[in-house]
Amino acid sequence: MQRREFLTSSLAAGAALATLNLASRAAHAADTKGASAKAPATPATPTAEPAPAPAVDTFVQPPLPYSLAALAPFLKEEQMNFHYNKHHAGYFKKLNGLVAGKPEAKLSLEELITKAQGPIFNNAAQAWNHSFFWNCMSPDGGGTPKGPLGESIDRDFGGLDQFKKLFTETAVTLFGSGWAWLAAGKDKKLQVVGLPNADNPLRQGLTPVLTLDVWEHAYYIDYRNDRAKYVDEFWSKVNWEFAAHNFASMAKA
Ligand code: MN
Repeated sequence: MQRREFLTSSLAAGAALATLNLASRAAHAADTKGASAKAPATPATPTAEPAPAPAVDTFVQPPLPYSLAALAPFLKEEQMNFHYNKHHAGYFKKLNGLVAGKPEAKLSLEELITKAQGPIFNNAAQAWNHSFFWNCMSPDGGGTPKGPLGESIDRDFGGLDQFKKLFTETAVTLFGSGWAWLAAGKDKKLQVVGLPNADNPLRQGLTPVLTLDVWEHAYYIDYRNDRAKYVDEFWSKVNWEFAAHNFASMAKA
């Protein structure tokens, strides 16, 4: 889905953040009888077991909202290919294996983020975080936030430059793996939070507005160990339109 469609459909539905289509559910297993009926007739033995139904994933990785090379030179195709097709896809694969046949398979990713623990939490949160993160960047990104988000950044941080400085420091100094977030409380007051590993502001009752992945796998191919350069370049592709939408979609306190 293109970003424009993503935003438009969400807006049209009046969707709150929690209902954004960050991971669609797969349809239930298709009826396999039709397929087998079309198969060439083979001499079946009386004891032959029916073929097992194909496994259907509970959670499906959403498509990247732009091409793998679209964010270059900030992030080049090889970096994005590993991040999206190996790391992000891997979280979905692991999560689907972990929830198979369990009550957790009936919950949304957002519900798993706030209710699950251990490996199911880790993989559900990483699945959601990355889907959100891809939308925090755009080939047409950069510039400055407009409207209520821009005004609130001025009010809560003293200006865009001060916000970017605080967010950058948080992202650069976060020890080990994690995410830098711009998040809003129920009173719509904005704050910058650095969270380790897979953690997500939803666990603190905050609404995610913008995020940056600072796991080493997010930047190592393009930037080696230079996280500061990666964070600095992020601002050239930041998707303020998506962040403003997240902020505007919050229920009024
Ligand atoms: Mn990542």
